[in-house]
Amino acid sequence: MKTRLSCSIGTLTILLAMGIPAAAQDDLDQRIDSNINDWVGTYKHLHEHPELSTEEKETSALVAAQLKKIGYEVTDQFGKYDSGNPAYGVVAVLRNGPGPTVYVRTDMDALPVTENTGLPYASKVREKRPNGEVGVMHACGHDLHMTVFLGTAKMMAETKEHWSGTLVLIGQPAEETVGGAAAMLHAGLYRKFPRPDYVIALHDSSVLPAGTVAWHAGPMLAGADSVDITIRGYGGHGAAPYVTKDPIVIASELVMALQTIVSRESDPLVPTVVTVGSFHAGTKHNIIPDEAHLQLTVRTMTPAQREKVLAAIKRITNGIAEAAGIPPGRAPIIEVATDNVPATINDPVLTQRVALALEKSLGKENVWPGQPIMASEDFSLFTLEDPKPPITMFWLGAVDPLKWKEAQEKGTRVPGLHSSEFAPLPEPAIRTGVKAMTSAATDLLRK
Ligand SMILES: [Zn+2]
Ligand SMILES: [Zn+2]
Repeated sequence: MKTRLSCSIGTLTILLAMGIPAAAQDDLDQRIDSNINDWVGTYKHLHEHPELSTEEKETSALVAAQLKKIGYEVTDQFGKYDSGNPAYGVVAVLRNGPGPTVYVRTDMDALPVTENTGLPYASKVREKRPNGEVGVMHACGHDLHMTVFLGTAKMMAETKEHWSGTLVLIGQPAEETVGGAAAMLHAGLYRKFPRPDYVIALHDSSVLPAGTVAWHAGPMLAGADSVDITIRGYGGHGAAPYVTKDPIVIASELVMALQTIVSRESDPLVPTVVTVGSFHAGTKHNIIPDEAHLQLTVRTMTPAQREKVLAAIKRITNGIAEAAGIPPGRAPIIEVATDNVPATINDPVLTQRVALALEKSLGKENVWPGQPIMASEDFSLFTLEDPKPPITMFWLGAVDPLKWKEAQEKGTRVPGLHSSEFAPLPEPAIRTGVKAMTSAATDLLRK
């Protein structure tokens, strides 16, 4: 048993270390060189024309058209939201003989952020809102993801002699609002198209220099829950608080008490965040209102910790209201949103395999150990739907290496994801992304 195990691990190690042959790497470099200007152009176009979540009509049309041109079987406008509205999902299939099926996923949506980068290709798109206008910007770099995705699509189609199997490319809408992955999965993504053996993706990073990638096995992004709390008191005159039950004071106490879930109830080695992001109550100086409303985001990495934190929120909220003398009939209303996203957990075996392919392709010095963060992604859902394929997502460095170095040495600020000043360096980020993703997919589909 022991011998067999070590033998199979030995074989696995040899297989894993194979990656793409050196000649194929040179060939890939040359192909990337001759396409890079086009890709930077595509990136700038996408950056200048962002569309918000669920509104990715032109973006998805561009992605679908390019994939068709390259020779993929393309289905566009695939998916349906829980609301019943159709989604702008794109699915592109390239069949190339026997072998596994690899899915590569990009997201496509932008954010309601007014761009402040000063770049010549900065977004000027504005969206009308009831309380004024807001800018629209690819502030999370999904334009970079799409460009790398389209570059990878082209490289894979041009190098079919190096791999065998089926490649399925997914253009996913509405990642930022969470709903796009579910819209495609619930519409039968894994039933109507080839069943996946692996699903891979990348996300740009505002803490890594362009030219590098980073990987992390296990939990990489947190699960997110939204919680709404309504504290119900009894309002009255601001000059006579003793005849009221002031919900503002109760809710204020609650905001502070909720901090103890992380500081006093959670193992410091188990990542957890509880943030009260919104607190609304009252209309005027001298009126104690009837209610106060809090909105929380909760971030955890495991189902057990999630349950523990949600239970603590309920216990503390009800306890504080009770201590303030709120009768059971006006107990707080606590609502946990049903559209929560689970943690993104990178499959360890798949992640190791992809990491070795990345090292082989980009050089060990450009492949770094990555850090998990408490942001969330609906990429996590791709492993929960039958046949529950292993997933992995890796980080793609996006920061100008000179600015990154300055930040390391002098502590200067580098604008992060979702910032109005977030400005990835397209070259070499696109080049590195295409090389990385093509190498990863080719390795998973190697002959
Ligand atoms: Zn984002
Ligand atoms: Zn993102």
